[in-house]
Order: sequence, then structure tokens, then C-alpha cells
Amino acid sequence: MKRGIYIAFDQLNKNFGALAQADPANDVIILVESQRMLQSRTWHIQRLWFMISAAKHFAAELEVAGFKVIYKKSPTTRDGILAAKSELKLEKIIGCEPNSYRLIESTKDVVEYQPSDFFLTSRTEFIDWAKSQKNLLMENFYRIQRKRFNILMDGEKPVGGVWNFDKENRLTPPKGYEFPPYLEHEMDRIDLEVLAELKSSNLKLWGDDPHQTWGTTSRSAQLQLNYFLENHFASFGPYEDAMLKENWSLHHSLLSPYLNIGLLHASDVIEAVRKRYQKGDIPLASCEGFIRQVIGWREYINGVYWFFGQEYRENNHFQFDRPLLPLFTDSKATKMACVSQQISDIESRAWVHHIPRLMVLSNLALLSGVKPQEFLDWMREVFIDAADWVMVPNVIGMGMHSDGGQMMTKPYVSGGSYISKMGNYCKGCAYDPKLRTGETACPFTNLYWNFLSEHEAEFTKIHRMFQQMSGLKRLKDLAELKIESKRILDGLSRGQI
Ligand SMILES: Cc1cc2nc3c(=O)[nH]c(=O)nc-3n(C[C@H](O)[C@H](O)[C@H](O)COP(=O)(O)OP(=O)(O)OC[C@H]3O[C@@H](n4cnc5c(N)ncnc54)[C@H](O)[C@@H]3O)c2cc1C
Ligand code: SF4
Repeated sequence: MKRGIYIAFDQLNKNFGALAQADPANDVIILVESQRMLQSRTWHIQRLWFMISAAKHFAAELEVAGFKVIYKKSPTTRDGILAAKSELKLEKIIGCEPNSYRLIESTKDVVEYQPSDFFLTSRTEFIDWAKSQKNLLMENFYRIQRKRFNILMDGEKPVGGVWNFDKENRLTPPKGYEFPPYLEHEMDRIDLEVLAELKSSNLKLWGDDPHQTWGTTSRSAQLQLNYFLENHFASFGPYEDAMLKENWSLHHSLLSPYLNIGLLHASDVIEAVRKRYQKGDIPLASCEGFIRQVIGWREYINGVYWFFGQEYRENNHFQFDRPLLPLFTDSKATKMACVSQQISDIESRAWVHHIPRLMVLSNLALLSGVKPQEFLDWMREVFIDAADWVMVPNVIGMGMHSDGGQMMTKPYVSGGSYISKMGNYCKGCAYDPKLRTGETACPFTNLYWNFLSEHEAEFTKIHRMFQQMSGLKRLKDLAELKIESKRILDGLSRGQI
């Protein structure tokens, strides 16, 4: 009688989770493609293709390593696990705790789960830290992580004497700056078969077909990591917040999809980073900026998901009820150059970097009062690296401030001036980032002041918003601005702005 090991589609790693102690002589590996998941939403085709093709490649790798692998297509994950158990007369099924509340709930009576080691910080470690804090400042968590992993430390002090180089890392590239070419991944037979199957299915799909942006194997994940370290790591820091029409990924690593499905583990990334930094030609600000993302933000976001619990996703602090704007699903449904560019990039590759996600897309959803759960659903459907644990805190806590400040001390909002400073979309846009009223007023600029004014009583109490609220008090045209806001909001809802 053999033992079954259930592997979720985001646990594709032989060295972690339940596979770490697996034995080909006794264990059967079970992967399940849940039809309920596939049929539940309109997915970006690249997201489904990436997940399914990576799982199929991983199953093939395990077979080469001598394992018996069952890949089931079933109405639900639970059905698939139970079917495999009964067909193979398995005594029990073990697994590593999944990364979403929903999957744990629906399978916990059929799989014996062990705690997850897919992150550097366990769920209980983070919860203990969070309980000991007055607030959940990421910076405090990050400093503990630096000490814990002894990264860029000089005894108890940070190398270079400071913990962060954010100020040096907020530049835009000079004119004529050249970025290295993008790494391309060739599609193989499995990739093409999965794509053909998706195209001939009756699933609701959105976006362009996959091309060579994403690989689907542990080898391609490793290639992406090496390519980043050799070509982008040194300059990661200074331009990490910039947005350019002519370059969609700048010096970002493009590692999130691989990290989030297990093809890379954060410990592999950190060890490779450490080694590359030791060679001596990587500026400290770039190394610190990147490490902060991986041992800081990524771990923090995962911790927050488990700390706040299942109901956190339902938060709607501002009581927003506007349906998702048409421009989010159609790049042609807006004249706003910055937004249209981001949506078209998402159509093309299912990815844009952090600042467009935060300061363009979430900013617009927040300023226009889109229901946070509708925006969250949309983001989960269209991003290649989306997962419940990462989307819920990033959207509900960081992007839309729908938790009323439980995670972030103030909302991330800005008018057109920030987008104009960090990006180059405004030249050639139908709107003017400096104008808050009139036909050519930038919707961001107008709605930013409208939003601050609508929530003035609440925001005045937030000490970090003092400067913004003082700006609001100086506005002479608030009454006119608010009339314009109604026109803009109405136009956005009709896809005419
Ligand atoms: C509204 C919103 C939604 C987001 N949704 C996702 C998502 O679904 N999946 C996802 O992985 N990231 C998400 N992020 C975080 C971040 O935008 C992406 O991790 C990053 O853009 C991925 O590209 P990269 O690998 O080139 O990242 P880099 O800029 O090269 O950073 C390196 C790594 O740091 C990690 N990281 C950095 N910031 C975060 C963060 N806030 N949360 C989690 N990990 C982080 C990622 O693993 C990333 O690969 C979201 C951010 C916002 C504001
Ligand atoms: S003017 Fe406003 S809408 Fe147009 S690109 Fe600039 S920030 Fe975006």
C-alpha cells in the first residue's frame, strides 16, 4: 500500500514541502487540475497556461526521477485527491499546507498537512512578531529579517551604516539610457500542447497568447535568476520606481511568477544574491533594495495574510460600491495614456511592475471608489504571479486602504504629478497632469483632491498626511473641482475618459 503526496500547483519544488522526504518506492505524487478553478473566472490566458504547463513539466521531471505521478482533471481539487486515493487504494495522503484559506478548508479532511516551508518565515513566527508590535511597520520586520539571515550586516549594524537607500532609489533613467534586452524563453512541446488545449477549450480567456516572456520549468526559473544577477542587479535600485513607455520591465527581476509557484525558493534567490554581491561590483543601494523586496516585503505580505485571517479580504473601509471600470479590461476604453499603457502591457504579458500596480492601477481604483473586492478579483485574474496570499494584502491593505489602516499607516494616493515625475506618459496624453479642472484636467489630479476632501476629517488625524492635507486647505477652486469630479467619475464608469 502506497502513500499519496498531494502537491498544489504552487508547490512545484522537490526540496521543500511534502516532497522533501518523498520516496519513489513508496510514494505516489498527486496533482489536480480543478475545473471549478478554471471555469470560475475570466482568466488571462497566460496565467492559466503558465500554471498548467509548469505543473505538467514538474510532473514529467518527477517521473524522470522515478516517481509515479497522477495528474487528475477533476471537478474540484478535493474530488481529484479522493479519486486518486480510491483508484490506487492509498492508505493516506499527506501534503504541505496550501497557500490559501480556501484550499486548506476544502481539503483538510482528506490530506494530512505539515506546516509550509515555502517561505523564509513561518506563519507562526510572523504572527508572534505581529502580536508583539504596536503597529505592523514593514521596516521593523525587515530589520529583524536582516539580522536573522545575517544579510548585509556588520555585527548588529547594517553595512553602510543605514538600513535603507530609498532616497537614492527613486530616480528616472537619463535620456538615452540603454536597458539590456529581455531574456526570452523558447516554448517546448508541453507548452504548445497546453496552449492548444486552452485555445480549443470553452474557458473564458482574456489577453494575448503566451510568447517568450515566461518559462515554465525550474531550469527557466534558474536562467531568469542568473540573467537578472548578471544584467540587472547592479542597476536594480536607482530606477526601481520609474515607469517608461519604451521599456516594460526596466531592471526588475521578473522572478515573482517562479517564486510564487515554487520553481524558485526565496532561500535560493538570497544565496545567489549574496554570492553575486560578494564579487564586489554591485552597488550597496541596489543589493539592499532587492533584498528588501525578497526577505522584507514578500515575507511580510505572506505573514499579514495569515495574521489578519480569512475575513480580511472583505474589508471595505470607505464603503465603495462602484463596479470595475471598463478601462481595466480594455486598454482602448480610456484616453488616459498612463492607464492605457499599463492595461495594454497586462494584455500582452500579464505583468507590470510594482509602481504601475500601486500608483497607477490601485491609485485609480481607490480615487474612483471602485469596490475593492471587484478590483481584487480583476487583479487575481490578470496577473501571471497572482495568488490569494499575495493579492489580498497588496490590494486590500496596500493598494486600496480598504482595511482602514490596519496594515499601512496612510493610503497610497497621488495626483498626476507623481506619475508625470516617475513616468513619461503625460507627453502625448489627452490630459494635463497639472490641471485639476477643465476638459483636459488629469483625472488623477482632480480625483486626488476630491478624495482628500471627501475624507478630510479622517485624514487630518493621520500625522503622515499633514503635508497633503495642508495642500488641500490651500485650494481655492474646491467647489468647481468637485463638480468636475462627478463628470470624470461618470465618464470613467462609461469608458469615456
Ligand atoms: C496592488 C498590488 C498587487 C500586487 N500583486 C502581486 C501578486 O499578485 N503577486 C506578486 O508576487 N506580487 C504582487 N505585488 C507585488 C509586486 O508588485 C510584485 O511582486 C513585483 O512587481 C513582481 O515583479 P518582479 O519579480 O520583477 O519584482 P522585483 O521588483 O524584482 O522584486 C523582487 C521580488 O520581491 C517580491 N516582492 C516585492 N514586493 C512585494 C510585495 N508587495 N508583495 C509580495 N512580494 C513582493 C517579489 O517576490 C518579487 O519577485 C503586488 C503589488 C501591488 C501594489
Ligand atoms: S496626464 Fe494624467 S492621465 Fe495622462 S498620462 Fe499623465 S497622469 Fe496619466
